[in-house]
Amino acid sequence: MPGDSEKQCLYCRAMSRQSETHCTQCGMPLPDSLHTGQTRRQQYFWLSFTAISLFCLIMVFWLPR
Ligand SMILES: [Zn+2]
Repeated sequence: MPGDSEKQCLYCRAMSRQSETHCTQCGMPLPDSLHTGQTRRQQYFWLSFTAISLFCLIMVFWLPR
């Protein structure tokens, strides 16, 4: 499909090439790079969530009652 090689800007609706990370029209990040940032943030969230849960578990068993 020819549309597959292009993606639309969320802000100004201009079409940019798939290889572009930022809109050529307005300079805002394009959907794909936004998604990557979201995924990275989600990974960081789960990493810190697991770390905090582990810390709480260790504290429950380690601290004297
Ligand atoms: Zn744009």
